[in-house]
Amino acid sequence: MDNSNIYQKAKQDLLEVGKKYNISEDKLEEFLVPDKVLEVKLPLNLGSEIIVFKGYRIQHNNKLGPYKGGLRFHPQVSRDETMALSLWMSLKAAVAGIPFGGAKGGVTVDPKVLTEKQLEELSREYVRKVFDILGPDKDIPAPDINTNPKIIDWMVDEYVKLSQKATHSAGSGQDVKSQKSQPYAAFTGKKAHGLSARIESTGFGGVIVLEKLIEKLNLNPKELQVAVMGFGNVGYHFADFASKKGYKIVAVSDSKGGIVKKNKDKFIPLDIPLVNECKQEKGSLAGCYCAGGVCDTRGGQMITNEELLELPVDILVPAALENVINENNMQNIKAKIIIEMANGPVSPKAYHYLVNKGVIIVSDILANSGGIVGSYLEWEQNFKNMKFSQKEALAKIQSILEKSFDNVWNLAKKNKTNLVEASYLLALEKLIK
Ligand code: NAD
Repeated sequence: MDNSNIYQKAKQDLLEVGKKYNISEDKLEEFLVPDKVLEVKLPLNLGSEIIVFKGYRIQHNNKLGPYKGGLRFHPQVSRDETMALSLWMSLKAAVAGIPFGGAKGGVTVDPKVLTEKQLEELSREYVRKVFDILGPDKDIPAPDINTNPKIIDWMVDEYVKLSQKATHSAGSGQDVKSQKSQPYAAFTGKKAHGLSARIESTGFGGVIVLEKLIEKLNLNPKELQVAVMGFGNVGYHFADFASKKGYKIVAVSDSKGGIVKKNKDKFIPLDIPLVNECKQEKGSLAGCYCAGGVCDTRGGQMITNEELLELPVDILVPAALENVINENNMQNIKAKIIIEMANGPVSPKAYHYLVNKGVIIVSDILANSGGIVGSYLEWEQNFKNMKFSQKEALAKIQSILEKSFDNVWNLAKKNKTNLVEASYLLALEKLIK
C-alpha cells in the first residue's frame, strides 16, 4: 500500500473539483493549508531504555465550529497522512451540516507491542504535549484506528487534571474559562460520559447511506453480496447492521487476512454476530467460518486482503486503511458499488478509472460521517448535561445522514456528475465563500 503523498493526492482531488466548478483557486489553496500543524516528541520509559515517539495534532479549519477529529495510533502515522485526514474531517462536517471544523492527530507507534501501562503513559503524555490547543470549544479529539474508549478515558482524566491545574494558576496564559466548562466535552468516544451509540455510529451511518443508495437504484438488499475489509469498530458494525437489513456479507477481513465460506462456487453468507464472537475469543478472524448459526471449517477458506478486494461481489466496503484500491489492483475490482468506510481507501487514479467504468463510489466524507455526527451528539449531551438513549442517538444519526445523502444525490443529478464529486462540491460550497 503506497501511502506516500496522501495529502497531495487529497489536494489534487479538490483542486480538480474547484477548477471544474469555478471555485476561486486562491481561496481554495488558502483553505487547503491547515490552520495549525503541531508535531510533538513523546518520550516513553520502557524500563531498559527510553523510546521517543512522534505525535501530531493538525487543526485544519474551524470556519464551521471547533476543530474535531480522531487520534490514530499506528506505525504508518505521519505528518502527511494526518494532514490529509484533518482536511477530510473539515469536508465531512460540512457535508453532514454539523457545526464542527476539521482536525486529526496520532502517534507513530504500534500499540500492540506496548504493555497496557506503557500505552496509558503514552496516551497521557500525548495529552500533556497538546493540552494547550485542546478544549470543548477549541479542538475535540476522538478515537480512530487502534485507539478506543479506554484510551480516550485515560486522556480525559489527564485533560481534567491539567484543566484543574490551569484553573488554579489563572493568569498562566490558559483560556481558563473554556477549560473549566464541561471538560468531558473536550473528547468524544468516551466510555464514561460517552454517547450510548458512539461505538456503532460510524458503521450504522454507513448502512443508512447504503440503504438510501440501494433504494435510489431500485435494488433488493437480499440479492446483494458484500465484502468488508477491516473488522474493527467500523467494519464489524457495518457488517452487523447490513446483515440485519438482509445484505449477504460473504467476506470479512482483519490485518491478518480474510475469510469466506463456499459451497462449490457459491458464497455462503457469514453469520456476523457469531464471526465476531469467534474473533473476540481467538483474537483474529482466522478459522471463524460461521454461517447458519454454527462455526465449522466445512467450505471455509482464508483469503488475503488483496483477494478480498477483488472478489466477484456487488458491494465492496473498505473499512481499514487508506489507498487500498489503487493503480495496482483497480483493473481487478469487480464490485459495482464501493462504500468508502475507511478514510481515503480509493486512490485518485483508481477513482477516475472506476468511475469511468461505471462503478458507483460513495465517498468517505459522506459514507463514514456517522462517526462525526455521533461525536457531535456526545459533545452536545456533555455540554447540555443530558443523555440521549441509544435509540434516540441512532434516530438522530439516521435523520442527519439521510438528509446529507439526499443533498449529495440531488447535487450530483443537478450537475450530471458522480457522488464523490458532488460530496466535495457540497463541502466546498459551505467552506469557501
Ligand atoms: P479499528 O482499529 O477498530 O479497526 C481497524 C480494522 O482494520 C481492524 O480489523 C484491523 O485488523 C484492520 N486492519 C488493519 N490493517 C489492515 C490491513 N493492512 N489490511 C486489512 N485490514 C487491516 O479502526 P476503525 O475505527 O474501525 O477505523 C477503520 C477506518 O475507518 C479508518 O480509516 C478510520 O480512519 C475510519 N473511520 C473511523 C471512524 C470511527 O468512528 N472509528 C469514523 C470515520 C472513519
